[in-house]
Amino acid sequence: MRIVRYSHLTEHRIPFSQQDEPDEVDKTRLNLEDDWGEEEDYVETAHWGLLVDDLIYPLTEAPYLSVDRTGAYRPKTIQMRPYTLREVRLAAPVTPSKIACVGRNYAEHAAELGNEVPGEPLIFLKPPSAIIGPDEAVVYPGISGRVDHEGELGVVIGRRCRNVTEADALQYVFGYTVANDVTARDLQQKDGQWSRAKGFDTFAPVGPWVDTHFDPTQRTVRCLVNDEVRQQSSTALMVHSIARIIAHVSRFMTLEPGDLILTGTPSGVGPVWPGDVMTVEIEGLGALRNPVVAETNAAVVFPEAPRLPGRL
Ligand code: MG
Repeated sequence: MRIVRYSHLTEHRIPFSQQDEPDEVDKTRLNLEDDWGEEEDYVETAHWGLLVDDLIYPLTEAPYLSVDRTGAYRPKTIQMRPYTLREVRLAAPVTPSKIACVGRNYAEHAAELGNEVPGEPLIFLKPPSAIIGPDEAVVYPGISGRVDHEGELGVVIGRRCRNVTEADALQYVFGYTVANDVTARDLQQKDGQWSRAKGFDTFAPVGPWVDTHFDPTQRTVRCLVNDEVRQQSSTALMVHSIARIIAHVSRFMTLEPGDLILTGTPSGVGPVWPGDVMTVEIEGLGALRNPVVAETNAAVVFPEAPRLPGRL
């Protein structure tokens, strides 16, 4: 089962002009301005979907929340026609409360940066605000001079867990996805701790889907920059297994449904520059492509939240 999140390019971007105008009383109370209903105002929301061949069947909720009496995931589809992939833009297929990451989980990668392999999983966090989807641009920060790609296997948690054993840990996995742990290497070395280097907006590309039946053992992980292979290894070479990572993380924090774990990157990390295109491929799972663009110095302006009648 492959799970996606998507925005529909037309129907799911609803111009305000197609919504009812609030009456005058509401308009005063809500302090709305006269531009209500301008055509360039859009509501854009990503929805959950089930991907079958190239058709997307809309889901009523996050798929790991739809569990039947036996404990099996039974995503509920909405009775409407499916979309084709050409009708949608795919978003990152995860909405985690946190992204737990493992550092130095491939021996050759630890060695290439002059580090020892840690005796237990070395855990750090990336903020969910760093997540972008397939084909979205990674923004090269103006305050960094060295940004690296890190192709990684991502694990999506399906059930809340705390203090699980290594033997039981895989029961809590919902599925697997492809990720890129983009890193400002110079700031990682300068800061000592990694929140800034790993946490920039756009530094967590994820996608294009979550596969619930993927077998992550002995799979090739590759990262290409402009079609040149930079990283190539096997998940068999992880120092700490996925089960051990989950057990280890769950010893100190509750893992929630939808949480994302990045399992570490193989050797071959290296710099990218604006204009490059990074592609992370995991054998049998999928390929995640993201271009790199330079940061502009313009202030970041967020669109206003939808101003709906009756909602203050
Ligand atoms: Mg990493």
